[in-house]
Amino acid sequence: MVRFVRCNALLSLALDSAGKGCRYIAKADTDDGVVKDMSEHMNSVHGVDVNGQRETILLSTKTHGS
Ligand SMILES: [Zn+2]
Repeated sequence: MVRFVRCNALLSLALDSAGKGCRYIAKADTDDGVVKDMSEHMNSVHGVDVNGQRETILLSTKTHGS
């Protein structure tokens, strides 16, 4: 099962580097992977530190059946 979370589910007003609404989607096979992927994206693109917000990220995380 693939887990995925949309950036704009977490940061509703997030803008990407081009100034448009951010459509980034973090995907991974595990909770840890999706949290790590989104944390890196938030940090590098939005300058947001989501350390300690694992639960918040996972609440917005959905899964695809395999
Ligand atoms: Zn984003």
